[in-house]
Formats: sequence, C-alpha cells, structure tokens
Amino acid sequence: MANEVIEKRNALLAKTVISNLEKRHFEAYYCPTTAEALQKALQLIPEGSSVGWGGSVTIREMGLTKAIHERNYTVIDRDLAKSPEETAELQRKCLTTDYFITSTNAMSEDGILVNIDGNGNRLAAICFGPKNVIVICGINKITQNLDAAISRARFTAAPINAGRFDIKTPCKVSGKCHNCTSPDCICSEVLITRTSRPANRVKVIIVGEDCGF
Ligand code: SF4
Repeated sequence: MANEVIEKRNALLAKTVISNLEKRHFEAYYCPTTAEALQKALQLIPEGSSVGWGGSVTIREMGLTKAIHERNYTVIDRDLAKSPEETAELQRKCLTTDYFITSTNAMSEDGILVNIDGNGNRLAAICFGPKNVIVICGINKITQNLDAAISRARFTAAPINAGRFDIKTPCKVSGKCHNCTSPDCICSEVLITRTSRPANRVKVIIVGEDCGF
C-alpha cells in the first residue's frame, strides 16, 4: 500500500514537472523505474550516433554506460583514460558528440536544472557542443523551487560527491559545505539551465526512483 501511494505521487509530480519542462522547450519523459529509463534513453539515441557522458553515478549505476558500450554507437568513454591528460582530451571530445548523457544535481518543480562542477566539462556539454543532451533525473532530485534546487546541489549533492574524489576540501572532513575556495573545490561553477535552446536539444528523463545523490 505504502509503495502504491508513493508510486502514485511520483507519477503525479512527474506529470506536473514534465508539463513545466515542455513549456521551457525541453523534451521530457517519465519512467517509473531505472530499468525503464535505461530503455527510454537507448530508444532516444539512434544507432551509429557518437555518445559521451559526464561523471554521473546515476548513469553508471543504472547500467546505461554499459548498455551503450554493448550497442552500435561510437563511444567516448572518459572512464577508460589512462592519465589525467587523456581524461581531459576525452572530455573535450565529448563536446562534439551527437549525444551527451548526464544526471543533474537538482531540478526544480517548475523545470529548471541546477548543476555544479569542479572543472566544468559537464556543464560545458549541457550548455553547448553535443547536438543532444540526455539528462536522467531521479525523483529524489526534484525540489520545490529554484532556491531549494541550488541549495540541494551545493549543500547536499556536492559534499557527498566530494567523497568520490581524491581531493582536499573541508567538506571531505566535516561532511558539510564550507563554501570553500580550495584548489580542489568541486563547486567552481554553478549552471542554471532555464530552457532548452534549441528546443528539444535537452531531453529530460524523470525516474520514479531515487537515483544518485
Ligand atoms: S566545501 Fe568546497 S568543495 Fe565542498 S561542497 Fe562546499 S564549496 Fe564544494
């Protein structure tokens, strides 16, 4: 019963958010599960396309990067780089792909995406470069408004994300954001994506499950 009520609410919330995303010229979809979201993402990418991605936990955990490797795509996989220089080179190559896949750090109910990055490669790709961007957004990342989305990205997602990297930032020690200016800061840039321009370049798949953090 509890699950049914949650599923119903998630579907209703997604319907509202999709309507708001479409008003902002995003293409938008709702998938109740990550398995369905994976199939939807693959459906959106025509065979033969070049595909790259950002450093998202969501797209790896849901099996999307693996599934892309198994299909007929030209894959730019930064995870296969053997040096920081090669990683940077592959990140640059991702900017000219047909499709770039990422999650989002937060999204407001009225359809605004908020993302934070250390060196900005993911944000650059969301803004301009790849012909299409597919954003996977777990229901846990939808917030009431833009202020709450920025707060989520900065004070919830970023300190957790910091734990993934070998960096020296105060949040790694205390678990909370100290608004640092460390050379290792993973919050160098904050991107607010209000609309998709050109229309439908950015395609958002809302998943009715928690994905990433
Ligand atoms: S302490 Fe620095 S790196 Fe950590 S979340 Fe805050 S601004 Fe980002």
